[in-house]
Amino acid sequence: MDFSKPDNARKINRLRLLSELRKGSVSKAEISRRLGINKVSIGEMAKELIDEGFIAEGEKDFSSPGRPGRLLSIAGNSGRVFSFSVSEKAVSVSVSDMLGMVLRFERYPRSGDIAENLKRAIERMSGDARIYGSAVVAPDDFDTSLLPSPVIRISRAEAEAMSEINRSGEMDRMLFLSWSDTIDAAFAENGTLRHLPDFAHIKAQRDGSCSCGGKGCLEAAISGNVLMQKAGVSSIKDLVRNNSYEHVLMEAMKPLAAALSEAVQALSAESVMLTGELSQLSDNIFSYLSELLHSVLPPYRKELPLYRSHSGESAQREGAAIMALDAFFYRSLLLEKLDAIESLSSALQI
Ligand SMILES: [Zn+2]
Repeated sequence: MDFSKPDNARKINRLRLLSELRKGSVSKAEISRRLGINKVSIGEMAKELIDEGFIAEGEKDFSSPGRPGRLLSIAGNSGRVFSFSVSEKAVSVSVSDMLGMVLRFERYPRSGDIAENLKRAIERMSGDARIYGSAVVAPDDFDTSLLPSPVIRISRAEAEAMSEINRSGEMDRMLFLSWSDTIDAAFAENGTLRHLPDFAHIKAQRDGSCSCGGKGCLEAAISGNVLMQKAGVSSIKDLVRNNSYEHVLMEAMKPLAAALSEAVQALSAESVMLTGELSQLSDNIFSYLSELLHSVLPPYRKELPLYRSHSGESAQREGAAIMALDAFFYRSLLLEKLDAIESLSSALQI
């Protein structure tokens, strides 16, 4: 793409305007100030976007000096994105509006006619809205050709982390450990998320064969699947809520603290958050983990904050919807790259 072409520059400015509105309602004057684009151009762009149904004009803004303008905001219902989460047993489908609000959520067993069930669910949940694409958390062999395209595959840890970041703002250098039937992790750094697929295979104990062929991996020691087997239960909810399995979780804390400590030091992480179903463990066990972790970290890291997810079960679908919107509508990555190029050019005075 040649950014000096007027048509491309116009497209980029539209994206910048939409991204500003995604953060909250704003007047034209304020957008003009934030983007450094004159008010007349902003007015023209806004009119176009209103005519196309992407944004809406609301109440008058009396908060700033001068003649009050109307506040602009994203028209949430102007389109939808899908997110899919595929586990061994079930496929969860959710549809969200243009601000990432989950509108509907359904779950289908993978046994039975899953293709037909999904097709019907997608039709029903699409209505007559514009569909921008899908974000999918699924094993590599899951066929995505049935899903509304374009499709991005994302990891469970990234989706959950994205939901936390969206709720609480910037969380720089935070390590996210997604603890569910399997182990996954992601790291937030410089405003982006990095998936850490190898985290599950950190050496956390001496033995225990892992599906990767290695020995003593964290996955083989404490994944939800392994712990459910140890406790003789078939759901993680049972494991977390029933006090009689407390000893199984307690035993898992030592390898977990060891793996976290190693990762924190390797990444220079400044905080850690547990997400996923197993993050909902009792306060008692959570404080035990916190103590253990602080006892194995080097002295200068002793104050490292350890958190638990606030979003609970909805985190994955909320985060996936945000990632689909980023990728297919707001094009966040493209804008970030352009900003980086711009600041580089101005530093070089090109
Ligand atoms: Zn392994």
